[in-house]
Amino acid sequence: MRIVRYQTKNEAPKFGWLHDDKIGEIEGDLFGAYKRKEAKTPLADVRLLAPSEPSKIVCVGRNYVEHAKELGNDVPKIPLIFLKPPSSIINPGETIYLPPQSKQVEHEAELVVVIGKRARNVTAEDAKNYILGYTIGNDVTARDLQKTDGQWTRAKGFDTFCPFGPWIDTDFNIADALITCKVNGQPRQMASTRDMVFHVTTLIAYISSVMTLEPGDLIFTGTPAGVGELKHGDEVVVEIEGLGELRNPVKAEK
Ligand code: ZN
Repeated sequence: MRIVRYQTKNEAPKFGWLHDDKIGEIEGDLFGAYKRKEAKTPLADVRLLAPSEPSKIVCVGRNYVEHAKELGNDVPKIPLIFLKPPSSIINPGETIYLPPQSKQVEHEAELVVVIGKRARNVTAEDAKNYILGYTIGNDVTARDLQKTDGQWTRAKGFDTFCPFGPWIDTDFNIADALITCKVNGQPRQMASTRDMVFHVTTLIAYISSVMTLEPGDLIFTGTPAGVGELKHGDEVVVEIEGLGELRNPVKAEK
């Protein structure tokens, strides 16, 4: 099932499920008991929202060997984790703003896990039972500030630096899916999810040994090699095979 969050006119946001190009409302609790109503609202008639409202966004750094190398870093022996604030979230298709504090904002195409059930001290063997599904993310990063600050909160945390969506796929197969990023149609990143250093179940076990993961929380699983700069007027598209594409324009902040 593909889960969307959407809004029609001035109504409150709702969860829905996608059938071809029609949406049906999900009535009840997406993380508990719910009903799928008939899919009859055309996708073209709604505004798609970021498909989850996470309490936190946990990200994994240097989880692809070639990306760690391109920035001159070693591959970590245990997962390297950091947080992005929920205030950095934007909806699919919305604009990424380049803040005046940075001269080097870059894209990071990533597979994103959406948590389905509260998780604390979960084992890797059991971790799949805590996954609602997968979506596409762009871990937008002010690379210059990441280097100068040491701590990554500012570099990763600007408003608009967390586009994800357009939907959550509950049946997505992560074994060997191609992740690509294009800027203005030019390929920048391309790798398979099989190249991850730490796999999703290991990440859930590791992160849940530190903090409780809540339903709707996101895990950005790291970016492959090929990260590069975003400029005013660009369009960045992250695509994951079998999952879809996430498209955002880029503008300089006024
Ligand atoms: Zn990242």
